[in-house]
Amino acid sequence: MTTTMQRDLFQPEQPNHPETGLFAEVVFDRPLDHAYSYAVPEELRTALAVGKRVLAPFGRGDRPTIGYCVGVHQTEPGRAVKSLAQVLDEEPLLTDHLLRLTRWMADYYLCGWGQVLNAVIPSGAKDRSGTRAASFVEAIPESELPAERPALTKKQEAVLEVMRRSEHPIELRQLARQAHCGPGPIEGLVQKGYARRESRRLDVFQDTSEAPTAPEPIHPLSTDQAAVWNQLHPALQTGGFRAFLLHGVTGSGKTEIYLQAIEEMQRQGKEVLVLVPEISLTPQTIQRFKGRCRDVAVLHSHLGNAERGGHWRRVAHGQVQVVVGARSAVFAPTRRLGLIIIDEEHENSFKQEATPRYHARDVAVMRARLENIPILLGSATPSLESWHNAHRGQYTLLSLPRRVLDRPLPPVGLIDMRHEKPRRFQALSDELEAAIRTALRDGGQVMLLLNRRGFSTHIHCPTCGHVEQCRYCDLSLTYHREQNMLLCHYCGYETAPTVQCPQCGKTQVRYQGLGTEKLQTEIEERFPGYVVRRMDSDTMKKPGSHARVLGAFRRGLIHILLGTQMIAKGLDFPNVTLVGVINADVGLHVPDFRAAERTFQLLSQVAGRTGRGPHGGRVLVQTFTPDHPAIALAGTHDYLGFVHSEMAHRRTHNYPPFQRLIRLIIRGEDQQETGEFAERLAGTFQTALANLKPASEGPPEVRLLGPAEAPVFRLKGYHRYHFQLQSASAGLLHQLVRTVLPTLRPPSGVEFTLDVDPFNML
Ligand code: ADP
Ligand code: ZN
Repeated sequence: MTTTMQRDLFQPEQPNHPETGLFAEVVFDRPLDHAYSYAVPEELRTALAVGKRVLAPFGRGDRPTIGYCVGVHQTEPGRAVKSLAQVLDEEPLLTDHLLRLTRWMADYYLCGWGQVLNAVIPSGAKDRSGTRAASFVEAIPESELPAERPALTKKQEAVLEVMRRSEHPIELRQLARQAHCGPGPIEGLVQKGYARRESRRLDVFQDTSEAPTAPEPIHPLSTDQAAVWNQLHPALQTGGFRAFLLHGVTGSGKTEIYLQAIEEMQRQGKEVLVLVPEISLTPQTIQRFKGRCRDVAVLHSHLGNAERGGHWRRVAHGQVQVVVGARSAVFAPTRRLGLIIIDEEHENSFKQEATPRYHARDVAVMRARLENIPILLGSATPSLESWHNAHRGQYTLLSLPRRVLDRPLPPVGLIDMRHEKPRRFQALSDELEAAIRTALRDGGQVMLLLNRRGFSTHIHCPTCGHVEQCRYCDLSLTYHREQNMLLCHYCGYETAPTVQCPQCGKTQVRYQGLGTEKLQTEIEERFPGYVVRRMDSDTMKKPGSHARVLGAFRRGLIHILLGTQMIAKGLDFPNVTLVGVINADVGLHVPDFRAAERTFQLLSQVAGRTGRGPHGGRVLVQTFTPDHPAIALAGTHDYLGFVHSEMAHRRTHNYPPFQRLIRLIIRGEDQQETGEFAERLAGTFQTALANLKPASEGPPEVRLLGPAEAPVFRLKGYHRYHFQLQSASAGLLHQLVRTVLPTLRPPSGVEFTLDVDPFNML
């Protein structure tokens, strides 16, 4: 209190401009949860609007700082306030709906509103890249000209004639071209009062996304699809908030339902937002949307600033009917949104792993609620969170339990690798190898999944046990043969491969463990004469590379496509008659309560890539744990069975969806200091917990787990500790965090992050 008063006393005098009695509420890109009031000077009164960025004196030394105006009012703040310095935008960057949505996000994800706004608005929209300033001129009508007017030159007369023939203001450049003159005569007309000039910004961006390759056929709905449609359609017609969970096995025709829902909205003149996991991985899906709908804008991660800004403005000006995009498209500034669709709602990529750590599905549900419109979540393997919501009646469950055209789901064979003879340098079991041969001989195509990139994933010394690790992380390095480097997949650290053990110096280190690069070598050796291609983040760096490889695969130019989970998503290739999973256990044994769910989802997804054509298809899964529910039940396409088994486990351990989690990660370069702060922070939470009044007798309503070293203790050179708060009540968790956080500040060099509903547990 006293400090602010003193600061006010010593403030240099504000420049003396007339005030308007108006005040602006401004938030900054800081982890602060409140807005600051500023007086609005007269000269900014007309330019200022809610949703625009402003420049305002802020922080130490009152540096002019960019903030967002989130409110304008006439209530005297009751203390001296500073004045706004500048308004930065010509048009508001945000709609009212988006303001409310981002406000909610700041509350829910426990970060600053300004942080959310700054992250949500693409920089191409802020810096107006993709536009240029242009001068427009227009003739003033005869009737408005004064009786006494200056005489014109011949040239000026001619230009005025051209100008008068145009119904709209003409851009200066264009007029000069049409009238065969330089800027001089036009300038003269403006000065003599015959014409007026205005400046506008023109869009110069080019939409570089592909045009639709073929129109998407309209299918008469199957019986199952018709049943789903009959439940969905009335809600689309009446509008109003309602959430649907569409559980449909792979190839059951979910996309057809999305398309018909979009068409219904287009009939009503409303916009639709479609969120998909990662655009570059789903070129086929995009083509299907473009092949059926008008005015589709596709937002993806390879867009440049100008293009992103261009799309943002087209959406904001109502020129787009369907927005298809990944996570951040949930913030598209539509004006007449009628429906939100989320395809593959279970996908991890909807969770953002940087502040604000939001989940696009959850934000989308809140957006639908705020805009009072329906939302449709679709998946073959819904997340347990969404399933739980359907189960307790928050979402309406819609089911497509069968594939279209009576196509069966492919049979899945599990190959128990414990019974395979150990052969040191071989990834394929005899059974899988034979199946590949048969499939190729019969003219089919093969997909092989190995969810680990690189050549060797484990580089160790057989004598002393040394394992090659990252210098900055507690993670082992992977050998990449094409680059001839050892790489850390977390921080990007790279070092030259070693031959001698750096620890004991005695023996040669061994390069073991299988990655996609080594798998490719093995497959090429065993199947000479067949074209093999690999899809992983190493081979797919260039924009458009997915589309190229998938295009070649579709045309039959590739016989075997192998890769990481990238090949598992949304692809529909009728000629794939065999899918092989090299090691189903890769993701199963990580310390994360969602490991089983992810494994089940991945296996179900990749199995869904086959049996989509007249030749049928099958799946072979190599595993060391064939009895694990995630693997055994994926083998029988038993989603409900898996949910049943996994829900029991989650309930026992108080994990989501039964309880909410907030994870706190404390990191710093100095191990001791970081550890001590983690202890102190957790201690403060313990005390606050003890003071929370339990609503009834019984187990505590909030539990604290930890603090402990994070599973990856050292990451990017930081030591990391973490702890978790668990509760069935999100409200209680938030309340607790809000009481504790303002009381503690980390020492310099130590920082902490809050992750509400965390996905990454490492
Ligand atoms: P999902 O999205 O559930 O995986 P899709 O919508 O991709 O399923 O449908 C699988 C295939 O079946 C696509 O090629 C699609 O064009 C086709 N399809 C969808 N609905 C029908 C239908 N009612 N009759 C015939 N074919 C259909
Ligand atoms: Zn590293």
